[in-house]
Amino acid sequence: MKRVLKTEQSVPASEAPGRGEAGTPFDDLGLTVGTGEPLAHHTWLGVGGKAKYFCEPVDLGALGRLVARCHERGIPLRVLGGGSNVLVPADGWAGMVVRLSAPALCAIDVNGTVVTAGAGAKLVHVVSAAVQAGLSGLEMLVGVPGTVGGALVGNAGGRGGAIGDCVRDVSVMLPGGEIEVRTGADLAFGSRWSNLDDCIVIGCRLELDEEDPDLLTKRMQKRWIVDRSEQPSGVRTVAMMFKDPHGTSAESLVSQSGARDFRVGEASVYPAHANYLVAHPGCTSEDVRELVEKVRARVRERLGVELAPQIELW
Ligand SMILES: Cc1cc2nc3c(=O)[nH]c(=O)nc-3n(C[C@H](O)[C@H](O)[C@H](O)COP(=O)(O)OP(=O)(O)OC[C@H]3O[C@@H](n4cnc5c(N)ncnc54)[C@H](O)[C@@H]3O)c2cc1C
Repeated sequence: MKRVLKTEQSVPASEAPGRGEAGTPFDDLGLTVGTGEPLAHHTWLGVGGKAKYFCEPVDLGALGRLVARCHERGIPLRVLGGGSNVLVPADGWAGMVVRLSAPALCAIDVNGTVVTAGAGAKLVHVVSAAVQAGLSGLEMLVGVPGTVGGALVGNAGGRGGAIGDCVRDVSVMLPGGEIEVRTGADLAFGSRWSNLDDCIVIGCRLELDEEDPDLLTKRMQKRWIVDRSEQPSGVRTVAMMFKDPHGTSAESLVSQSGARDFRVGEASVYPAHANYLVAHPGCTSEDVRELVEKVRARVRERLGVELAPQIELW
């Protein structure tokens, strides 16, 4: 699903001027906006082209000015979280890419059983803050990379639930820069999906349960060991290929279909965990895209199951 707040016919990112050059539509806003930023530096796979414009706003006010300007000028805008679930094409992104990495957008606060987190906060930091405070409910997020924003948008989770199960409310910024708090019936979370696809997520409040911190820590450590053993280790340039279909795992379907040793160019299925792919040195976005399609086609032909891609092609 595309999360583009507005589209334009614009110059390809590859034609953008060098970083920091004057003459962007943002020069009067008091923001640092880079140009031609290599997005490979910001994604787990480490492949793909450049962003025409790139900004890491210092706070919500700066984000609001940037978002409103993009809206006024018809400049398409995307948010990049931890970059663990996106595949950037070789020709990059001909618009604005925003990262919510500034401290003001990554704050975590625990008050009673409620954890408040900025969208830029790393999921691992939120999980450990909750555990330290003796709060349970986020155990299924152990080992999931990325940020709170990315997790909410894709309803990240694992065995036993997903982040959406704990959400009390989500703060979002609309295309004009206005802020809104969504709760109850305004929010929908499904299988690796949410309805937060028309906005920028800026933070959330999670409602958790009290639990004995020692028991919780032991449970989390056990879970960490089990879950991590099911993920590639020692390689950073990996991505999860498919969502688990209802009642089974994508990993077992890929294995059963005989695609475990598939390779396209410098992208290959990670043999020990067949729902991941690895980008080897020299890998291109096209290698990754073709590998995902090749594996998907094999599962369809051999097992009659249509797998839904987990990784999102920008
Ligand atoms: C090794 C590995 C293990 C993984 N394990 C799991 C797992 O167990 N369970 C699971 O669910 N997933 C898993 N994933 C997939 C991925 O980590 C999750 O989908 C994660 O939640 C993505 O978060 P991110 O911050 O990296 O998002 P990104 O990859 O940066 O972005 C993903 C999408 O969310 C959008 N987005 C990000 N932040 C915002 C925001 N603030 N506002 C609006 N849109 C935003 C982006 O535009 C993009 O469309 C795994 C991935 C890897 C590489």
